[in-house]
Amino acid sequence: MEAEIIAIGSELLTPYRSDTNSLFITAQLNEIGIDVVSKTIIGDERERLINAISLAWERSALVILIGGLGPTEDDLTRDCAAAALGRSLHIDQSIIGTIEARFRSRGLRMAEINLRQAMVIDGASVIENPRGTAPGLWIQTDGKVMMLLPGPPRELCAMFETQCIPRLREVAPRSAIRTRVLRMTGITESAADEIAAPIYTRYANPVTTILTALGEIQLHLKSFGRDEAEALAPLHELSAQLETALGKYIFSTTGESLEEVVGNLLREHGAALAVAESCTGGLLAQRITSVPGSSSYFWGGVVCYDNTAKTHCVGVPKELIESRGAVSSEVASALAEGIRRRAGTTFGIGITGIAGPGGGTAEKPVGLVYIALAEPHGAHVLERRFPGDREVIRSQAAQAGLDMLRRALIGSKSEPRP
Ligand code: ATP
Ligand code: MG
Repeated sequence: MEAEIIAIGSELLTPYRSDTNSLFITAQLNEIGIDVVSKTIIGDERERLINAISLAWERSALVILIGGLGPTEDDLTRDCAAAALGRSLHIDQSIIGTIEARFRSRGLRMAEINLRQAMVIDGASVIENPRGTAPGLWIQTDGKVMMLLPGPPRELCAMFETQCIPRLREVAPRSAIRTRVLRMTGITESAADEIAAPIYTRYANPVTTILTALGEIQLHLKSFGRDEAEALAPLHELSAQLETALGKYIFSTTGESLEEVVGNLLREHGAALAVAESCTGGLLAQRITSVPGSSSYFWGGVVCYDNTAKTHCVGVPKELIESRGAVSSEVASALAEGIRRRAGTTFGIGITGIAGPGGGTAEKPVGLVYIALAEPHGAHVLERRFPGDREVIRSQAAQAGLDMLRRALIGSKSEPRP
C-alpha cells in the first residue's frame, strides 16, 4: 500500500514552523510496511487544497490530511475534503456532547464556533481525540482510505499510534519494509556511485539512494516484501554484493559511528591510542571520547596549537618546525611519533594543517592538512587538500584521522584520495 501525506497550514510554509507530523507518521507507516511516496504542504487556501486532495485521492490508496480541523475560519480541511470527494457534511450530535463535556470539565462554556468541529463528512467514521477538541475522520471506500487528523503534534501522535495504526493493519495488505545504511568514508560520492550503481541498478527491490554527509557517503537500501523474511532476503543479497565491491570504504552497516567502529577495533586488538592535534583543536579527542568506555583504549590527547606547545608537550624538534614549517608532513609525523612515545600507546595520531580562512599561501593553501599515524613499525602520513570552510576542513581532518586508524586496524592501508 502506498501513502500520500498532505500537511495543511500556511504557517508550515514559513521558516517558523516545520512539518514534523509527517515524519512521525512516515516512521509509523514504515513499521507496518506502508511506503510514503509523496508529501505536500499547502497553505490555508480553499481552491488549492481541494485540488491537492482530489489529485491525491485519484492516485494513492492511502491519503492522510494533517491539520486545519480547528474551529476557526482558516480551518478548511473538513470542507475541502468533502468537496473533493463530492460528499456532504452533517452535524454529529455525539461529538457536540463530547466537546461540551470537555469545556464543562474545565469550567468553560463551548463557543459557537466549535460546532464546526462536530461536522462529519457523510460516510466517515470518527477517530476520537482524547487530547483535544477536534476529532479525526476516517473515510474508507473500495480498499482506499483517507484520514483527516488534527495538527497539534501531541494530539496527532497519540491518535495515530493508538487508533489509526491498528485500523490500518486490518485494511492494508500484509507487508514489510526493511532498511539498511552502508556508511563509507575515504571515497567521493561519484567514485562510490561508479562502483555501486552497476550493482544496485540491477535491483528494483531494494530501492537504493546515495546520500552525502560531512566526510561520509551513505548508501540507503530499502526493501519491500509481504513479510519480514521476504523483505530481508533481497536486502541481504544486494548489501552483500555492495559490501564486497566497496569493502574497505564501508565502516558500518548497522548504524555505528566511525568513532565507535574505531573504538571497537582498538579494543579487539588490545591496542591503545594517543593523539596530538593542531588544527583540529581537540575535535578528534572529542569524537573518540564521545563513545562510552573509551578510557579502556584512549590514553588522551594534546592540543598543541602554538609551535612551542608542539615542542614542549610532544617533543617535536624546534629545528624541524623551523626548517619544514609547522604544516608539513615531517611535523605531522613527529607529532604522531612524539605523542605515541610519550604516552606509551600502540598508536599515535598527529594532525597539522591550515583551517583558514587566513594563513594560506600558494604553496600551502587553506585546506592543506597532514594526518600522520604512528604504529609500532613506523609512521606514515597522508596529505589532504580539503575544500570548504574552517569547520568543514577541521571536521574532515578529524574524520580522515579516524579512518586512517580504522584502515590500519583492518589491515588495509589508506590511499591518497581517490
Ligand atoms: P486546532 O484545533 O488546534 O486548531 P487543527 O487541526 O486546526 O487543530 P492547526 O490549526 O492546523 O490544527 O495546527 C495546530 C497546531 O499544530 C499549530 O501550532 C501548528 O503549527 C501545528 N501543526 C499543524 N500541522 C503540523 C505539522 N504537519 N507538523 C507539526 N506541527 C503542525
Ligand atoms: Mg487550527
